[in-house]
Amino acid sequence: MSEIVSEEGGILTAPHVLEYPYRRSVGPVLGRFFTELRAGRIVGLRTQQGRVLAPPQEYDPETGAATGSDFVEIGPGGVVTTWSWVVRPRAKQPLDRPFAWALVKLDGADTAMLHAVDAGDLSRMRTGMRVRPRWRAERVGHIHDIECFEPEPQATADNGLGGERQRAGELAMAEEAQKPVTNIKTPMRLEYRYSAGIATSRFLHGIAQGKILGQRCPSCSKVYVPPRGSCPRCAVATEEEVELSDKGTITTYAIVRVPSESIDVPLPFASVHVLLDGADLPMFSVVQECPLDQIRMGMRVQAVWVPREQLGPTLQSIRYFKPIDEPDVPAEKLQETV
Ligand SMILES: [Zn+2]
Repeated sequence: MSEIVSEEGGILTAPHVLEYPYRRSVGPVLGRFFTELRAGRIVGLRTQQGRVLAPPQEYDPETGAATGSDFVEIGPGGVVTTWSWVVRPRAKQPLDRPFAWALVKLDGADTAMLHAVDAGDLSRMRTGMRVRPRWRAERVGHIHDIECFEPEPQATADNGLGGERQRAGELAMAEEAQKPVTNIKTPMRLEYRYSAGIATSRFLHGIAQGKILGQRCPSCSKVYVPPRGSCPRCAVATEEEVELSDKGTITTYAIVRVPSESIDVPLPFASVHVLLDGADLPMFSVVQECPLDQIRMGMRVQAVWVPREQLGPTLQSIRYFKPIDEPDVPAEKLQETV
């Protein structure tokens, strides 16, 4: 959870972004499509029935037959067959101003491909309008090599600027860029608003005061932290609040050595489950100030908080856990919680 943006009746709400990079191999058919895009050309693939699929596919969606390698250059112009106007573009969408998502049937193709159309204004969009690609100068072999489509200029209005841009881009391409495209980066991003709910909001308000608050189940007496407002075993509401120690015991751990763009802790580091004293469910954190080969189940640790004036209703108020000089807890005492 990042910044807290609103609070109603004590319930915290914040924007939540789930984002990660993703690289996928594309295979020979889409590989050819992306390789041609890098060169400023668009190709479709002719099926045995003679239809031209664009973008090309490995199998004919009508017959299921393999499509082979009968690639044909299509477009670059085409016709909008249907569209939807985007009033407020989201981060990472092709354009940062209102635009249309459209199905564009390129000249010579029998199917339409999805792309953005930069018409400037909703009133200029219509089904049946002619469009042409706006190429990026720097192309890498990705659908984004076409920045978007734009309305085709009327007859004599074309001053050839698009062509100039395309040629400049071709000159900028080094010879090594002539290798076939075999994989593409397709970053994933989910953006939504997260409401913490009553129980977790109370917990986060406690964190903002340097306190860790759990909740006890009235039926089985287990103490949950962070609390979710109910006991998953007994299916009853948990309302009794319990203040917990910021000391606890490692119940299990993993050493993280694989880099990720979204992790800002230096590698390698230990991610751990810490069972806080008084709690029955471990919480997730990281351990620092300890050689990795000394981290073990049963080890006693304590939270290291951010400075008092930086405390806020977020788990980032606990920077990490560090070892403390107390005897290990025997493994059999932790079995219930691992
Ligand atoms: Zn219970």
